[in-house]
Amino acid sequence: MGNQIRSLPKLGDLESKRVIPIEVKSELLVFNLSEMQAKKKYRIQWQRGIVVFALTVGLLGCTQSSSDQTNPAGSTPKVVSTSTIIADWTEEIGGNEIEHTGILQPGADPHVYEPTPKDTRTFEKANLILYNGYNLEPGLIRLMESSGKKAKKVAVGEAVQPLQMNQEGRGRVPDPHVWGDVENAIAIVKRIRDELIELSPEDKDTFTQNAAKLTAELKQLDQWIRQQIQTIPANQRQLVTTHDAFQYYANAYGLKVAGTLIGISTEEQPSAQTVKQLVEAIKSTGTPAIFAETTINPTLIETVAKTAGVKLSSQKLYSDSIGAPGSDGDSYSKMMVVNTTAITQNLGGKVTPFQPNTPAK
Ligand SMILES: [Zn+2]
Repeated sequence: MGNQIRSLPKLGDLESKRVIPIEVKSELLVFNLSEMQAKKKYRIQWQRGIVVFALTVGLLGCTQSSSDQTNPAGSTPKVVSTSTIIADWTEEIGGNEIEHTGILQPGADPHVYEPTPKDTRTFEKANLILYNGYNLEPGLIRLMESSGKKAKKVAVGEAVQPLQMNQEGRGRVPDPHVWGDVENAIAIVKRIRDELIELSPEDKDTFTQNAAKLTAELKQLDQWIRQQIQTIPANQRQLVTTHDAFQYYANAYGLKVAGTLIGISTEEQPSAQTVKQLVEAIKSTGTPAIFAETTINPTLIETVAKTAGVKLSSQKLYSDSIGAPGSDGDSYSKMMVVNTTAITQNLGGKVTPFQPNTPAK
C-alpha cells in the first residue's frame, strides 16, 4: 500500500482541481476501479477530485496485486467538444491520448441545435467538456449544465475578447463567431492545449508538440488570408452573407460586412423589411456577389441575390461548422481556405493557393 501511495500524485497537485459532489461518487468509484484494473496504462482521473482519489487509493491498496503496482492501469480521459471547429482542434492536439467525442455533426447549426438523449449520456461520461461559449450553442450549454456534472467545463471560445453586437430582443451581446480571426483560433488552441495538459499531465509533451504544429500552420493561414483579401479591389471588399457570422473575419482581414439577412443567431427570422433593406444595401454598395452558408437554407438569400441583381457565389461559405469528412472544408484550416478563396474570387481578387510548410490535414 505504501508503494502505491508513492506512485500516485501528491495531494497538493490535486488541490487546485475541481471537487465533485459527494452523491455521485460511489458510481464513479466502481467505474474507476474496473477501468484501472482492465488497462495497462496508468492515469489518474484528475477532475474527479480529492475524495474519490482518497477512496480509490484506499480500496486499491487492498485489492490490487503487486504486478499491478509496478505497471498500474488507467483509462483514457473522455473529452467532449460541442462545435465541429473545436472538435477539429481538440482531436489534432489530443491525438490518441484522449477519447474524444464531438457532439455537433458537420453541417449542423449550433444556434438552433436541439440535443438528443445520446448527447445527455455523452456529457454524463465526460471528464472535460470544451464548448465555444458566448451563447453560440444555447441548447447544448443548457444540457451541459444539467448533465455534465462530473466534467470540468471550459468555454474555450471565451479565451478571446468578444466583439459586442446587437441581437434582436437581447440588446448588446458578445458575438460568438470568434474563430473568424485566425489569431483568435491560435489563442483558443493554446487554451485547449492547457486544459488537456491539466487533464492528463503525463501527455504534456505530446499535447505541446501537436499544438505547436497546429499553431505554425495557423500563423501561415492568417498571413495567407490577409494577402488574398488585399488582392480584392478596395471598394469591393464587402461581405453580404445569410447570418452575421463574419464580423471577426472582416475585422481581421480588411473587409466590411455590408449586410446580412439575419443577426448573429440563426434563431432570428428575417422580416420582409430586412430583406428589402438588404437588397437596397447591396445595390448601393455595388458589391458584385453575395454568399450563402453551408449551415443555413439558401432559399431566401437566393431571392435576395436575384432581386438585387447580383451573383450568388456557387461556393457556400462555411460559417458555423466545418465540412463533412472528405469534403474540401473538413478541417478548420481547410474551411478558412475555401471561404477565403470563394470570397476573393467572387469579389474580384486573385487567389494564390495556400501552401503551408506543414500541410493542412
Ligand atoms: Zn452563427
